[in-house]
Amino acid sequence: MDRLRLCFAGLKADCFLVSHLPNIHYLCGFTGSAGLLLVENSRSTLFTDSRYRFQAAEEVHGARVVIAPRGLVRALGGRLRRRGGRLKVAYSPTHVTVAQKAALDAAAGARVRWVDGGDAVERLRAVKDASELAKMRAAGQLISATMDDVIPAMKPGVTELEVAAQIEYQIKQRGGSGPSFETIVASGPRSAWAHARPSRKPLRKNELVVLDQGAILDGYCSDMTRTVFLGRAPARIKGMYSAVLQALEAAKAAIRPGVSAGDVDAVARRTLGSFSRFFTHSTGHGLGLEVHEMPRLGKDETTKLDEGMIVTVEPGVYVQGLGGIRIEDDVVVTRRGAEVLTTTPRDFLEI
Ligand code: ZN
Ligand code: ZN
Repeated sequence: MDRLRLCFAGLKADCFLVSHLPNIHYLCGFTGSAGLLLVENSRSTLFTDSRYRFQAAEEVHGARVVIAPRGLVRALGGRLRRRGGRLKVAYSPTHVTVAQKAALDAAAGARVRWVDGGDAVERLRAVKDASELAKMRAAGQLISATMDDVIPAMKPGVTELEVAAQIEYQIKQRGGSGPSFETIVASGPRSAWAHARPSRKPLRKNELVVLDQGAILDGYCSDMTRTVFLGRAPARIKGMYSAVLQALEAAKAAIRPGVSAGDVDAVARRTLGSFSRFFTHSTGHGLGLEVHEMPRLGKDETTKLDEGMIVTVEPGVYVQGLGGIRIEDDVVVTRRGAEVLTTTPRDFLEI
């Protein structure tokens, strides 16, 4: 919260209203599903409802908790009105609907001027501290151990949904609170759908299977993809796989503090060579309390990587009718380069 306060002057704001739950979690520790956090220069207040009275008392640090029986927005409005005078309140328009903004306007009154706070909190979140890094390492280990168990047990006849259920069951067995996004198990031609939902389709011999999964552990997300082949793969598939693996390794090797996110993306595309036309998404994304956060490793992204950032690296090729291949690791940007958090073997696996 003190780091956020340092942004007030630049934003020309007197305080910051935080409404996005992962940002509230990050700033004061609260993990409930209803909350508004007002960060002022001298104090902070979390507004929540009576369901969270005991939870907030245990979780929240550095903020006063106000249980708001007549609605959070109304309680917040009361606090802003009591401050008196003209007040500039920063907020993140990305996380507020039109209806919510109208309610905020009505509750706060005419003396409050709303200022675009942009992604100030997300920028803070992009660089992880030591305790966050420890949690991210553990989340990476959890998903790697899960996949080490699940992948060799896959066989023809088992459905995509059954494999996904196995993964999600094991995540919880190992102490994770759940998957960090809907587990992707996509086989055969469906593996070319970069974000396929698992279906009742059984795995068949001579098919590619893309498995993209993550676990939430202590609030922090992991995100890892492996692609395997059921049976003996033809040379074309093997060639595609080795191009993707080379792109992954080259992009990871390019990661260090000061390099731009766009340059890492460019390395992945260049290494894919002629396959790059089948690479239809960005090379990676930030990872932390949310499975997609800053920075994005995409084309022409100018953000400079910084020590302590965590990003995924996930080149892929998707050929309609034939199938898709993606390999994804999570890495921490360190002074010495990328430290890899996800360890499940990447060698081409024919089961
Ligand atoms: Zn993924
Ligand atoms: Zn990802």
